[in-house]
Amino acid sequence: MNTITVVGSINQDTTLYVQAMPKPGETIRINKMVVSGGGKGANQAIAAQRLGAKTAFIGAVGADHAGEGMLALLRKESIDVAGVAVLAQETTGQAFISVDAHGENSIMINAGANTKFDAAHVRKYRHAIKNSDFVIVEFESPVADSVAAFEIAHKAGVKTILNPAPALKEIPTELLALTDLIVPNETETEILTGIKVTDEKSMTQAAAKLISFGVGTVVITLGSRGVYYHVGNQSGLIPALKVKAVDTTAAGDTFIGAVASVLRPNFANITEALTYGNRASALTVQKLGAQNAIPFKRDLD
Ligand code: ADP
Repeated sequence: MNTITVVGSINQDTTLYVQAMPKPGETIRINKMVVSGGGKGANQAIAAQRLGAKTAFIGAVGADHAGEGMLALLRKESIDVAGVAVLAQETTGQAFISVDAHGENSIMINAGANTKFDAAHVRKYRHAIKNSDFVIVEFESPVADSVAAFEIAHKAGVKTILNPAPALKEIPTELLALTDLIVPNETETEILTGIKVTDEKSMTQAAAKLISFGVGTVVITLGSRGVYYHVGNQSGLIPALKVKAVDTTAAGDTFIGAVASVLRPNFANITEALTYGNRASALTVQKLGAQNAIPFKRDLD
């Protein structure tokens, strides 16, 4: 069983279902409101834990009702939350999502505590990182915290996974040089490399560019097309499962958590791990919602 530390974001998501979005100055009635757990870091940690890993979390929430609720959700999954700071002066990260009758959405995010924990906090919980097989970071938390986490991992021989989402135009070269596995989707790949991934040739070019930035291994997720991988001198495409997708929220987060939970730290079983990731996220896209759509290992067995 792999041990994983996620250094990342925790959000409370509030989804408001309305007939039509309000115009400026207008007051409207909400048809349905759903409050749920979210944040890329929390989603990835839940995926890793449900799909077979022992998972610890380093991050922050505010000292408020939302933070208590989100911590309770992670504890319920048996995720180790000792490394989650409760910051008295901050609010918990929250996303407000409105969905109209056509399924169009608009989202407002209050990053809150997610951007307020620092590298010193990450270093305080270095033992969790050092005792892991993999450490995972994304970009909803400060990049300096990701660098601190990867430095600790690198020194201890722990493998690092970077999910460069939401996309940043420029990633510090020091972070890329400390990245063993980068997992961008198609949009993030294009923003990072300037190469639009359409066919295997452009995927190979994009992967080569990412490797020239200093990363070890590249896995590009391609939505319903599956994944492209480039590890050592091996590369190829692994198609997604053909399923009827109803909501792709958390597909990428499920994929990363699933892969990290079964991948050997020497990457020897990379194609099996990516196939496991495809199978897990194919289940996620067939269910509405984010965290409640993330499957358990038993669902795949
Ligand atoms: P993100 O959610 O980060 O944008 P992707 O859309 O690339 O990431 O999806 C991640 C993974 O989820 C894909 O590599 C694939 O395995 C799976 N997936 C996504 N959409 C579908 C789909 N429509 N059918 C089957 N699998 C899917």
